[in-house]
Amino acid sequence: MRIRTLLLSALLVAVPAASAYAAKPAIKILATGGTIAGAQASAQSYGYKSGTFSVDDLIGAVPQLKEIATLSGEQVANIGSQDMNDEIWLKLAKRVNAALADAGTDGILITHEHSDHIQGLAAICVRVCVPIFCNRLTMEAIAAHCPIRLDYRIFSTGATFEVGDITVDSFSVPHDAYDPVGFLLRTASANIGVLTDLGHATKLVLERIRAAHILLLEANHDLKLLQDDTRRPWSIKQRILSRHGHLSNDSAADVIEQIISADLRRVYLGHLSQDCNRPELAHRAVSARLQKIGANHVHIESTSQEVRCATFTI
Ligand SMILES: [Zn+2]
Ligand SMILES: [Zn+2]
Repeated sequence: MRIRTLLLSALLVAVPAASAYAAKPAIKILATGGTIAGAQASAQSYGYKSGTFSVDDLIGAVPQLKEIATLSGEQVANIGSQDMNDEIWLKLAKRVNAALADAGTDGILITHEHSDHIQGLAAICVRVCVPIFCNRLTMEAIAAHCPIRLDYRIFSTGATFEVGDITVDSFSVPHDAYDPVGFLLRTASANIGVLTDLGHATKLVLERIRAAHILLLEANHDLKLLQDDTRRPWSIKQRILSRHGHLSNDSAADVIEQIISADLRRVYLGHLSQDCNRPELAHRAVSARLQKIGANHVHIESTSQEVRCATFTI
C-alpha cells in the first residue's frame, strides 16, 4: 500500500547529535530528449541521432547522483531540438504546472493554533491546495488571523479519521491553547506518535501514544538552562514549567520510560527551545534513562530548528 506524505504541524526535523547533515533534496527531471540524450555507434562514425536515450538511462548513467539527491524522471517527449513544436511545449508546460501543484501531501494536521505551529500555513496554502485537518476551536483561532481562506477538514478531539492511506487517532493534551491535541498516525507499516506542546503526560496521553513504533516527542528545555535564562521573565518561565506548558528533557525521559515497549524503535526529540536547550542535552537525558532501564533497542535523535533530519523510511 502506498503511504503518502503527511505534513505535520510540528516540525519533523532532526539531526544526529554528533554530525549535522541535511536530507537529500527531491528533484524531478522532465525530459524532452535533445543532444544530451543522443547516440551514435562510435566517436568515429556518422549517424548521430538525438533523443535516443530515456531520462531513466541518463539518470542511471551517473549513479553518484543518488548520493546528493533523490531523483525521478518523467519522459515528456524524446526528440531532437529541431523537432520541438507548440504541442510539446504545451505538454511540457502542463507537466511543469502539475508537478509544482502536487506537493505529494494529502493533508496538514494542526495540533493547536500557537504561532510556532501555524505561521507558515498561509504561505504553503497559497502555493499548493492542501486540506487542513484540525478541530473546530483551533480552526476558529487560525481563521481569526489567517489572511487567506483555507480548506479545513474538522475533526472532534478524540476522533479517528483517515488522511490518504493513514488512519489518524487524535487525543487531548494539557497545553495552554484552545483545544490542543496529539496524534497517533497508523500506517500499514508502523504507528507514528506526535506528542509535543504538553505540560505533563496524562493517563490518556500515555495510553494513546503507547502503540507508537516511532515517536516525535517534545523535549522542550533543560531545567537548569531555563531557570538560569535571563531573557525570559519569571511569568513566562512559570508558564513553560506549568502543567499546561512544555515538557522538559527529564519529563520526556519519564514519558518514554512509562510507554516503553519492544515495539518502540525510534524517538525524535522535538520542539527544543533555542535558548533553554541543546540537542546534546536532550539526547543525553533521554539516552541515560533508556540505558538505566535497559532499553537499548530504541534509537534516539534530537531534532534541530535549522537542519532537516534524514528521511527515515518505514
Ligand atoms: Zn504551543
Ligand atoms: Zn509549540
